[in-house]
Order: sequence, then C-alpha cells, then structure tokens
Amino acid sequence: MHFIQGATLAGTSGRSQDVFNPATGAVVGTVPLASTGEVDAAIAAAKAALPGWANTPPAKRAQVMFKFRDLIIQDLDKLAGLISAQHGKTLDDARGEVARGLEVVEFACGIPHLLKGEYSAQVANAVDSYSLRQPVGVVAGITPFNFPAMVPMWMFPMALACGNTFILKPSERDPGAPLHLAQLLSEAGLPDGCLNVVNGDKEAVDAILDHPDIAAISFVGSTAIGKYIYSRGCSNGKRVQALCGAKNHMIIMPDADMGQAVDAAMGAAYGSAGERCMAVSAVLAVGDDTADRFVEQLAPKVRALKIGQFDEPGVEMGPVITKDAKDRIIGYIDQGESDGAKVVVDGRNLSLQGYENGFFVGGTLLDHVTPDMSVYRDEIFGPVLSVLRPQSYDEAVQLVMSHEYGNGTAIFTRDGDAAREFASTINIGMVGVNVPIPVPVAYHSFGGWKASMFGDHSIHGMEGVRFYTKLKTVTARWPSGIKDGAVFNFHSGSETK
Ligand code: NAD
Repeated sequence: MHFIQGATLAGTSGRSQDVFNPATGAVVGTVPLASTGEVDAAIAAAKAALPGWANTPPAKRAQVMFKFRDLIIQDLDKLAGLISAQHGKTLDDARGEVARGLEVVEFACGIPHLLKGEYSAQVANAVDSYSLRQPVGVVAGITPFNFPAMVPMWMFPMALACGNTFILKPSERDPGAPLHLAQLLSEAGLPDGCLNVVNGDKEAVDAILDHPDIAAISFVGSTAIGKYIYSRGCSNGKRVQALCGAKNHMIIMPDADMGQAVDAAMGAAYGSAGERCMAVSAVLAVGDDTADRFVEQLAPKVRALKIGQFDEPGVEMGPVITKDAKDRIIGYIDQGESDGAKVVVDGRNLSLQGYENGFFVGGTLLDHVTPDMSVYRDEIFGPVLSVLRPQSYDEAVQLVMSHEYGNGTAIFTRDGDAAREFASTINIGMVGVNVPIPVPVAYHSFGGWKASMFGDHSIHGMEGVRFYTKLKTVTARWPSGIKDGAVFNFHSGSETK
C-alpha cells in the first residue's frame, strides 16, 4: 500500500514485489512499486499541503510531534513486530531501533526553540538585521532496508517540524513499519498531504530525482546508489544529502580491557547480523599477542551465538535480508579463505531445524586478514568479522585513514593520550573511545566522511535543522522617514551617521 493525501491506497502501476520473512524464506506479503504517475500524485499532494503547513506556527507543529511521540510509545511493540517480521532482526533490537527514532521525534518537539534566528540591533543607524530559517519546500527521503523505522524517523520528523512537506520512499524489502508510522502521524493531527509514503524501486526514485517540485532529498543506503542520487539530484538543482556504506574499524590497543573489548566486538559485529552501517567489520588488534588473546576469547562466543527467528526466546541474531544477500556474503567468505585468511569460525553451512529455507548465515570470524583482500576492502553487510594484525598504533591508524569509507571507528585502550590523539586526527565522521558503535544521540548529528557520505550536512540534531531550512537574512530600517540621500558606495555600519 501507499499513503497519499492521508489515505492508504493500493498501487495502480501493475508492478509489485514479494516481501519475505527472512527466517523462513516464505512470502509474507507484496509491496506495490509506484509508477512515475503515482509519484507525481504524491508530490502534488505534498505541494498543495505546503503553504498551509509552512505557515502553521512552529509551536503548533510541535504539538503534532508530541502527540506522535505518545502514539509511537503506545504502538512500540506493534512497530517492533512489523520490523522483525519483514527484516528478521530480533524483537529487542527492533524495539531499540524504534526507541532511537523516537529520540529524533522528541528532539523535533523542541522546534520553536531550534528555529530561533539571530538578531542584531543597530547594525547601522536605525538599521536592524535578523535571520530566519524557512522551510525548503517539498522534501523526499529514500531509505534502506536495515532500519525501516529509525532511518525514516531521522528524516521526516525534522523535515516536517521545520515546516516542509515530505515524500518517503522506503525500502521495498520491509515496507510495513514506515507505512504504520505515517498512519500514526496522521492520527496525531498532521494535515493530509504533509507526509506521503510511496513504495517503489528505481522508477519511483528517478521520478523523485527529476521532479521540479522536489526541493531537497535525504538518502540513506549503499554508496553506489548514493553517488547516483547525489549526482543526479544535484545536477537537477536539488539540495541532497546521501549517507552511504561503511567499513568500520575497531582498534584494540595492547593495554585495552580485553574482556570489555571482546563483548563490545560481539555486539558490534554480529548484532542485527552485521546489517548496520555502524557495525564493526574489521578489528585491528595491535601486535600479535593482542590479536591472539582477542581471537582466543572471541571465537567461543561466536560459536555460541544463539541464532534464530526474531521471536524465539533468547535469540541474539537473526537471518540476513534476502537469499541474494546470503549468497553474496558466503561468496565473500569463500574469497577471503582462498586469499589466505584463516577461517576461525565458519558460518557458511549453518542449518537450523525448521528454518532450512531461511536466509541464515552463521557468525563468521576471519583472522590474518590483510588489506588487499576483498573481505577487508568491501562492505560485506553480514555477520563476518575480519581481524587484521598491525604491529603498531601508527600502522593501525594508517589503515583506518587510507580506507575508502569513513562512517564510524572506535579505539579500545586505557591510554587517554592515545585515545585523544586518535579522536582528533582520524579522518572518520563518528569516533568511539571504548564505545564500539558510536551512533550520536538525536540532539547531535549522524554522518560519515569519505565515501560514507556525500553532501554538506549530516542528519538530525542541528544539522537536520540546517539541511531542512533555508537561511534568510533581513536588514530593516525603522523609522522609515530617515532621509540621507542616494548612497553610491559600500560602507560599513560603523561609518553611518
Ligand atoms: P540500497 O542502496 O540498495 O537501497 C537504498 C534505497 O535506494 C532503497 O530505498 C532502494 O529502493 C533504492 N534503490 C536501490 N537501487 C536503486 C537504483 N538502482 N536506483 C535508484 N534507487 C535505488 O541499500 P540497502 O541494501 O537497502 O541498505 C544497505 C546499505 O545502506 C548499506 O550499504 C549500508 O551501509 C547503508 N546504510 C547507511 C547508513 C548511513 O547512515 N550511512 C545507514 C543505514 C544503511
């Protein structure tokens, strides 16, 4: 279903796609794939709703967000169930995802304060200057499968609170949760047409990229698609932010608390089956002794991972998203092995009774990985952790610095000097010190560097306000009756009478 002009609509394009329960491989629904005409209708609804919503006082827009927050809390378990049934992540993880999205809604509730501009009195004689942040217009969000609720909530609450109207094009793999969020926001009092959800694939995305009434686009997804969206959107004159793929390194220094580092790596590498853009996929254990201790302590925990369907008691890791993803991940492990990596824990032949057709890959641990291997260079987006063995801090830092991606990184150490030096010099957008997945809270901003992000503003926090508003500066002279004749030259405020 789509959600346009406040109503749930069946698709009319004649094109649709199956949605799976990744744990069983069974089809659990279908999602319509919108035609260009259906996208145009959604954009027309958003354009018609724009003047009224943009002129609604920010405090009134905030009231809708407060109500939306209450409805999300009320429906938290339902939203988590929708996520898990189509994505496969555990229910606890899905609840956590909704909770992180909810924090952005809570931040958006403060929009009257966030939109306050700057004011300077008497910049020249009887002249005052002030700035306004005004909505950019109709904004689109294009989102990935791995956080079907949280990533859309990074975008539309901030965009709407700033006075824009919104078209969400969620991932076609797990469309349930985003649709429900749009219905809740409507119930919270958002006027029809302000938030529209259009399901679809490349045809829908291209219709958004080329439509003259779309002012700005937020994209989260893979680097290949993000580059395409950034370049085509920008060349059509739109403001675009594209948050993309990653390869996140965790450096373990010889002095680190190894128990803490091992636990941190477990959750960061295998949580959500490694399908997180902030997952740790490469551990740089400094020195062979550190690496030996790390692998020795981690391996039994990886072997003991409780893998299964999202609703089984005690389950720690679910399946990956599709059969194609499973095959791709196994292909990477095969390649890593033939390139010379040591497969310490092998997740390739996992078979779970009752889930033989599910898209499961077991937790996999590769040691003695080297920088030339594809398991290290590429984003695998699965439960595969590579261990590299740099011999010094400098060598470890050099690896992080020269990698293509720059989303997140972490250092585990008890040495404050090393940690501080690392945080200040590393060329990565989000840095953790003894924190494996340093995802910023909603009132800070999320975004990577290098091939992990294209565009100037990262997402949510004050960066969200900046991305979803245009700055206007007004210079006004009152009283209007002052007459000092025509002025032909520039002069500074201090030179005026
Ligand atoms: P994806 O790039 O395949 O899809 C993202 C969106 O783009 C979807 O809505 C999809 O329908 C659309 N899309 C796919 N192919 C397209 C095409 N050819 N033309 C136009 N649009 C197209 O990504 P995914 O597999 O859904 O998600 C996983 C990726 O997202 C990983 O690379 C992950 O690192 C990244 N990700 C990044 C962040 C971040 O904040 N940096 C967060 C979450 C996920």
